Amino acid sequence: MDVQIVGSRGILFTFYDLEMPTNVYVINTIGTYFIVDTYLGEDPMIAIEDYLIEHFGNKKKIVINTHSDWDHIWGNSYFEDNLIISHEKCKEDILKNGEHFLKEHSRLKRGFRKLVVPNMTFKEKITFSEGIEIFHSPGHSVDSISIFDRVDNVLYAGDNIEYPIPFIQFEDIKGYIDTLRKYLELDADIFIGGHTEVENADIVKSNKNYLEKLLCGNSIDIEDDSIKVVHESNSKFLDSINSNDER
Ligand SMILES: [Zn+2]
Repeated sequence: MDVQIVGSRGILFTFYDLEMPTNVYVINTIGTYFIVDTYLGEDPMIAIEDYLIEHFGNKKKIVINTHSDWDHIWGNSYFEDNLIISHEKCKEDILKNGEHFLKEHSRLKRGFRKLVVPNMTFKEKITFSEGIEIFHSPGHSVDSISIFDRVDNVLYAGDNIEYPIPFIQFEDIKGYIDTLRKYLELDADIFIGGHTEVENADIVKSNKNYLEKLLCGNSIDIEDDSIKVVHESNSKFLDSINSNDER
């Protein structure tokens, strides 16, 4: 587990059990830890809690799930007596598909105990007096939400930003571009994704640029083989949407 301090009150925990680094972000306010995503189970959450208590003491905890993908929610059970917040569609999706993904990726569990769904959901936006705003931001998935820390001007984007190009798995690409446009209007200094490093607005601009080109059917030159795989999968996904539309 890597630990990186971000701004005056952000702590980025990064784990390496999957093919790509995966983040849990904590906003350490005076009375409350806002814990964004819960990774693969209770073991990493215990490590995070130990770190927080050792450095900053015991505080109330509020958990936020950026979206329903399995690599971000399996540690929810560790916080089941606390507030766990998500978009309403996130809860629906975990109830519908959670067991399936649990079976499919079972070997990646890290101290997994049970699936726990969020106990507070919303549609558009929640604001906390600590200077934290959580808002619906569909893109990577229909249920994706983002967390804006106004004190440090940090936007935590979940899997809506990816390096170097986004992986598309939800059909509303125009909506995805709109979300990235909104991100840029917020004028945050720092952007962090579920699998990125600490970034600036460049990653948002280049992800947006890629999606715009893809949607217009412009040719996109990609040399790196590992990125080509993602790009080809995106192109196929787009073709399948277009052929569905024609039917
Ligand atoms: Zn992810």
